Amino acid sequence: MPAITADTLTLPRVAAPDPAAAARRPVLSVTTAPSDYEGEGFPVRRAFAGVPVSALDPFIHMDQMGEVEYAPGEPKGTPWHPHRGFETVTYIIDGIFDHQDSNGGGGTITNGDTQWMTAGAGLLHIEKPPEHLVVSGGLFHGVQLWVNLPRAHKFHPPRYQDIRGRQTALLASADGGTLLRVIAGELDGHAGPGVTFTPITMVHATVSPGARLELPWNPAFNALAYVLAGHGTVGDERRPVRKGQLAVFGQGGSLSLAADPSQPQAEPNLEVLLLGGQPIREPVVHYGPFVMNTRAEILQAMEDYQAGRLGVVPAERMPHTGGE
Ligand code: MN
Repeated sequence: MPAITADTLTLPRVAAPDPAAAARRPVLSVTTAPSDYEGEGFPVRRAFAGVPVSALDPFIHMDQMGEVEYAPGEPKGTPWHPHRGFETVTYIIDGIFDHQDSNGGGGTITNGDTQWMTAGAGLLHIEKPPEHLVVSGGLFHGVQLWVNLPRAHKFHPPRYQDIRGRQTALLASADGGTLLRVIAGELDGHAGPGVTFTPITMVHATVSPGARLELPWNPAFNALAYVLAGHGTVGDERRPVRKGQLAVFGQGGSLSLAADPSQPQAEPNLEVLLLGGQPIREPVVHYGPFVMNTRAEILQAMEDYQAGRLGVVPAERMPHTGGE
């Protein structure tokens, strides 16, 4: 799992919070993501399945894509598709992914890069591995997170942020046993590069076998921990978690987790995506690629898409190499 790596001994340390000063968040639930296939066939885990919208707010949906080793000729992508009313955050850990949207955004993201797309009022989008990876095959592993937009920003013009892995803020835990990559928002005063309408914190933590991670966490945010790889425990209650499981934490000003001393051979560390955000607390109507406040707004989005008002596929478009 390359993402971005660094020697934790040389990085700024995040001091372990005193639970007396910043109450430790309890673990409310641990759920297992069901496996599914996206678009024309890349394997995904639906990370938030079975978790109430109120516990996820401001997050809507998350897929862990792969980890998969593609044979030559096998990689799949999505066809052109619309979005409205939210932001997609695509974080590539291994492999390469190309993006293009009808608003002029697009590019290639690889090992540790993030593509941040504010769909806002609406656009058309395609995401797929590049042609040379289709020819050669290879490893692919990433995450796509959907962050909701509040009513006031749902019709914001589309926006695109291309974040390179080296731009993430790199930190170490108090004991040096965990590498922390701050992709968006801030952790202990260290800001990552991603900018959102709704304040969030997104951190990829690599926890060494046997290491324990204790972090301050904004008390106004929710707190989710999704296990990308490895085995460990969450909370001071040390509830077991493994790859493909999501822990939802309750209220408090700090959280803890730990990596088991022994890890699977193919997954030497506990890899965790930590997510927190300011809840929007508005009605959520989610239908396919649209996330709005009311059913009428969903119907309007479908009508606007069919009428071409969410944009048109650019003339200089990325060739579509899926199975259609
Ligand atoms: Mn998309």
